[in-house]
Amino acid sequence: FRHGEASEVAVATPNGTVYFGQHHPVVVVAGPCSVENEAMIVETARRVKAAGATFLRGGAYKPRTSPYAFQGHGESALELLAAARKASGLGIITEVMDAADLDKIVEVADVVQVGARNMQNFSLLKKVGAQPKPVLLKRGMSATIEEWLMAAEYILAAGNSNVILCERGIRTFDRQYARNTLDLAVIPVLRSLTHLPIMIDPSHGTGKAEYVPAMSLAAVAAGTDSLMIEVHPNPAKALSDGPQSLTPERFDRLMQELSVIGKAV
Ligand code: PEP
Ligand code: MN
Repeated sequence: FRHGEASEVAVATPNGTVYFGQHHPVVVVAGPCSVENEAMIVETARRVKAAGATFLRGGAYKPRTSPYAFQGHGESALELLAAARKASGLGIITEVMDAADLDKIVEVADVVQVGARNMQNFSLLKKVGAQPKPVLLKRGMSATIEEWLMAAEYILAAGNSNVILCERGIRTFDRQYARNTLDLAVIPVLRSLTHLPIMIDPSHGTGKAEYVPAMSLAAVAAGTDSLMIEVHPNPAKALSDGPQSLTPERFDRLMQELSVIGKAV
């Protein structure tokens, strides 16, 4: 992964092929933390599409710290994502936690997400590497760059060259103001170390909706290839990650602010 031209990851969506990479516009992935019901996922899809997003995110299988927290609706949420894909034309990104669910997820997802907590789940990495859909690999919350790149290497070595690297904040000493420390320095660092496309997730990176616009703008200014932003039609009522979710109105305004920076959508 260390040498050569910047690579691009081409993803076929219902609305055409979208390219993640240095020589393409910034790809914006938006949507709720969790898929909650059909009305909310379809409404969110329509709103983020209208604002300029090309991918819808939404968890069906959720990695929650507490076993008593909402775990996601599982397989039925995959059907709702398929409905939202059809209604909006957006590509779908959703997380796999268990290799046993991979076949079902791959039927619906245009990109398969491996979450921060599974970054070094090597058996899962080998399995997502052996299936055909592109893979979004989130940085583990305490992972070094080297560990992250070696995790990506597992996917590449298993035969899947379509890997996107997503920074989502790392665990540091001060959690009073932000959930994590969003490491934007990875943008130039990864550029120097790997050809793989880069995504920044300021939602999990900060944990607070009010910080998300500034970090999104900074990430685009620093040269990210894509953004992942949590958007919920009613953040106060969200079943997960409401405090870090933008309303559709705020997301729409952010997309207009991003377009001023240049490379954005
Ligand atoms: C998510 O994208 O909803 C998620 C759980 O992210 P992370 O793995 O970065 O915590
Ligand atoms: Mn979330």
